[in-house]
Amino acid sequence: MKTTVLGLGLMGSEIALRLKRQGRDVVCWNRSAERSEAARARGLTVRSTAAEAISESEMTLLLLSDAAAIQATLFESGEADALGGRILVQMGTIAPRESREIAGRVAAQGGEYLEAPVLGSLPEAREGRLILMAGGDPDLFERCLPVFKDLSRDPQRIGAIGQGAAMKLAMNQLIAGLTSTFALSLGLVRREEIDVEQFMALLRGSALYAKTFDKKLDNYLNHGYGAANFPLKHLLKDVRLFKRVAEENFLDTSLLDAVEGRCREAEALGFADADYSALYEAFCPNPTPPSS
Ligand code: NAP
Repeated sequence: MKTTVLGLGLMGSEIALRLKRQGRDVVCWNRSAERSEAARARGLTVRSTAAEAISESEMTLLLLSDAAAIQATLFESGEADALGGRILVQMGTIAPRESREIAGRVAAQGGEYLEAPVLGSLPEAREGRLILMAGGDPDLFERCLPVFKDLSRDPQRIGAIGQGAAMKLAMNQLIAGLTSTFALSLGLVRREEIDVEQFMALLRGSALYAKTFDKKLDNYLNHGYGAANFPLKHLLKDVRLFKRVAEENFLDTSLLDAVEGRCREAEALGFADADYSALYEAFCPNPTPPSS
């Protein structure tokens, strides 16, 4: 199936390249010329408008930042019926209600819509190891499976439109939560001058351990967060999204107020585009020496 990819940011460009390496015919589009040029330099075919790219393929994958970017790209170009007969697969992290709204607008134009957000970042996209959580019509999911299998070892349909989006938000809340609580514990261990390796060894042998602790440990120890696969600004976006959706479901989100505050502080410290593990710097700021 010829495939279009809209959005050539971190994830979109990596997914487009993965599909191309798997032997698929891929065309792409990106709003800004800079990223379009960078993608061309990496061997991707890039069209000058989204409508042109969509018209060439039966199936279009959306790797855009948020729902506003999707709405702007699909519906604000003023081209009526551009989506007729097309399959639109939304892969970014958005709210369930936003996903259902986009599905309605795609259907109104005669297109078919599936959500397929993913857990995992650039290495997982590169190697086809993303965790893909789809929501939508089962038959449409089956038709999209060959493409999904190029991106994920075990693509799963979670349920109706909105349920894949909700599953993805549930996962990303854990990224924020685990990073925050680990940052605090590691911060205390370091301030009390306890041997970090001894702390990690005990933790690894306990039921409290999560792989992400070791994956990001060097970042915390070296205060180095440079090469972002998943930037802190996206984690902040997802914490806010989760909070909104959880509040709609009458869950208590006071814990996330603090996490959101720390994300904002990390942004203020200049880490917006750094790896999200830079959240550590907001939880464990440099101690202020007592004034003499
Ligand atoms: P990114 O690198 O920031 O790229 C964002 C893309 O959205 C760019 O192509 C950007 O185009 C486009 N965009 C933003 N606003 C737009 C608008 N108003 N109209 C048209 N295009 C617009 O983000 P990413 O990391 O690839 O993430 C994409 C989505 O996947 C997000 O929802 C993110 O949360 C989710 N996700 C990311 C990861 C990850 O590890 N990075 C993992 C799983 C899921 P321009 O070049 O024109 O700005």
